[in-house]
Amino acid sequence: MKTVTVPFFISHQGCPHTCVFCDQRRISGADGEIPSAGEILSKIDVWRSKSGARPLDVAFFGGTFTALSHNIQAELLQPLQPLLARGTLRSVRISTRPDYIDEKHVAWLTEMGVGTIELGVQSLDDEVLAASGRGHLAVDSLEAIQCIKKVGVKVGAQIMPGLPGDSPLTSLESLDKVISAGADFIRIYPTVVLKGTELAQRYVKSVFSPLTLERGINLCKILLQRAMRAGIPVIRIGLQADEGLSSETVIAGCWHPALGQLVRSQLYADLIDRFVAPEQSVTVYCNPARHSDVVGIKQSNILKQAERGVRMHVVHDSSIVKEEIKVTNEGSSTKYSIINDINYSISEV
Ligand code: SF4
Repeated sequence: MKTVTVPFFISHQGCPHTCVFCDQRRISGADGEIPSAGEILSKIDVWRSKSGARPLDVAFFGGTFTALSHNIQAELLQPLQPLLARGTLRSVRISTRPDYIDEKHVAWLTEMGVGTIELGVQSLDDEVLAASGRGHLAVDSLEAIQCIKKVGVKVGAQIMPGLPGDSPLTSLESLDKVISAGADFIRIYPTVVLKGTELAQRYVKSVFSPLTLERGINLCKILLQRAMRAGIPVIRIGLQADEGLSSETVIAGCWHPALGQLVRSQLYADLIDRFVAPEQSVTVYCNPARHSDVVGIKQSNILKQAERGVRMHVVHDSSIVKEEIKVTNEGSSTKYSIINDINYSISEV
């Protein structure tokens, strides 16, 4: 049964840094206040009443949880203890910077019910980290991943393709390194230029060029395929669209409210382009969970195929795994996989 996550945004709380791309208040749409014990418990109650029998997690997103004072961390985690003990809550998830992790601290977090720690790795290239004002080195991320894994806590890594000084190749290397270090899951947030940030000033002065949407999609599809090949889930691609993030606040960069779907759709589009010859009628069978990716947003994949003279009919088939499609045409039927049947070159980005 899928877990329901009760989110608390504690934007910029505890963070002593100003990365050049960051405006946490805008990213989360929250005002960054630390919730009181009462607020935490009543929000959990509301979510619990809507979640039926599904297991419940709590997540503290944004900010740098482990840089908050010990008292505040305890105030946030203490109200959850009776719920964890009764089994009402399954686990707690926090996000933080790699350089605010140490063994003693992680051990305490585990005792307080934290089962997942997400690290803002962003890049594993020291020059990119320095140009982005991160204030830590790649080795801090690698050590943090190992430290968290040692106590059996799940670790997620966020990476940001397209930061200052980054290239498609360094992004791919960063992904490979977090996978080798043992990350359990990944979020890919292509860099966007937010109003009011240092990056916005650099963009206006033309000293920084962000990834366009098109290049970002092409890069993300390669990163996604790489993670899939390694068997590591990518749980999110692109910042979430909410009240705080819109075409008003994002002034440039690779952003779209449905970026993840655009990226997955592109993988299926490439597969069909590669294996379906022009000027024919085909039926494409796919897992129901991937129907909208195969069809594309506003039927974009079907319309693109029509330009090649391919009449494509998409049909659900739950016996097909999510990463495959089955193409039938005049009695022949072949399965293709977005993981194994396309080999991308990073130089295409
Ligand atoms: S460490 Fe995180 S919260 Fe702090 S400025 Fe950088 S991105 Fe923003």
